[in-house]
Parts: sequence; C-alpha cells; structure tokens
Amino acid sequence: MRTLLAGNWKMNGLRASLSEIRALGRAFADAAPSGDVVICPPATLVAEAVRAAEGTRIAIGGQNCHAKPSGAFTGELAAEMLRDAGATYVILGHSERRQYNGETDAIVAEKVLAAKRADLTAILCVGESERERDAGKAVSVVTRQLAASIPDGVSPSDLVVAYEPVWAIGAGRTPTLPQIEEIHRAARAALVKRFGAGAAAIRILYGGSVKPDNAAEILAAAEVNGALVGGASLKAGDFLAIIRNAPKA
Ligand code: PEP
Repeated sequence: MRTLLAGNWKMNGLRASLSEIRALGRAFADAAPSGDVVICPPATLVAEAVRAAEGTRIAIGGQNCHAKPSGAFTGELAAEMLRDAGATYVILGHSERRQYNGETDAIVAEKVLAAKRADLTAILCVGESERERDAGKAVSVVTRQLAASIPDGVSPSDLVVAYEPVWAIGAGRTPTLPQIEEIHRAARAALVKRFGAGAAAIRILYGGSVKPDNAAEILAAAEVNGALVGGASLKAGDFLAIIRNAPKA
C-alpha cells in the first residue's frame, strides 16, 4: 500500500504560506514522492491551496467539518463545502477538537459519515492521553475510540486512521517504536474485526512530533502506513525531508 504523508497546519497559515505548497509541488516535479501527500490548511486557504497544488501530486484536505450538509449553524463548515472548494480529505476527531470543542466519539462518527456523503476521505484521529497510557489503558482506549467513531455505512476505502497519542502532539517526544507498533497492531486487529479482510487497505498513520530526524524509523515500523504531521509540515523543507524518508510502496 502507498504511504500517506498528511500535513496538519492547524490554525497556522496566511496566504503567503501558499508558497510552501508551491515549493513542495516544484520539488515533486523534480522527484515524485514515493507516497501520497496531503496538506490540510486552515479553511480560509483550502480553495487557494487547491489552486496552488494544481498539477502537482499534492491533495488538499480540511481539518474539520459539520455533520449536516447545510443549515443554521453559524461559523460551521459542511463537508460538501470542503469538497466544493476542491478538498479530497478531511481530518476528523483530532484530539485538539475532542479537547477544546467537546467532540465525543458519537459526534466524530456523524462527521465521518458526512465526509463519506461528500466524497471526502476521512482521516480519523484516535489516541490516548498520558494518564490513560500510564494506567496501562492505551490499547483499550484506542480500540474503543475506533469502535465508537467509525459509523455503520462506511467502508475501508472511505477511511484513513491516525494514531496520535495526545501526550506526543506538539510535545517533541514520541512513543518508543515497540509502543507505536503495539497500538498500530491493535488498531489493525480492531479494523479487521470490524471490516474483515478489506481492513488491510486502511492506512494507519502515526502522528505526534514526527520530525525529519525521526521520520525514517517511525515510517518503517510495523503497521505504520504514513504519518500525520503538525508543526513540521508548515515548512516545505521540513515536510519534504519527512516525505523523502517514506518507504517505497
Ligand atoms: C498533529 O497535530 O496532528 C500533530 C501530529 O502535531 P505535531 O506533529 O506538531 O506533534
């Protein structure tokens, strides 16, 4: 399976930042990436990012969407609107949204269904807190989140899963490789239980302080099919160094 390298710009980026996408596109024209690449800028930049990425191998995604296709939900954004702007992916259930916006697994599940309705691939984020890991609950938390945030009606081709331990995001520290592999194997088993053999096609990304200097070993770990990258995706040079470390399909 092709790896997926996804950049989450979070609430960072003005129009000037589109130059990072153009720089990445130029680098790919010289040497194509071995995996798929998606950048998820803030919503204000999605349409322009799609234009900046035209003719390159970069896909554009949103960072959130509402469950409904339209309506009286001031300040919200429908999956259909992201699709209309040219996005093909959407990050859902990021721990920052779970933490700051009260998103429960049930809410995330509705959004995953909305993404499918709008023909967006959902990048569904799951991951334990530090307290949960210390209590020995990392595997059970992740498998529970997967079970509850994937709604009936979606199929493996609608989904990418991102394992993001909350304590590693933006923290400059990462789990050990055996810890990453343990969760990724458990996530794969949970997906197989849910979808059967078709679950083999679901890419399971690792996210949390992936940087140019740790990307190669993380991306080579068992059941790791790519990375979701926050801070290090903001600069084309850093993200490119991570992308270049992705194993060949
Ligand atoms: C993220 O926000 O999804 C993330 C992984 O952030 P960082 O790479 O900065 O830890």
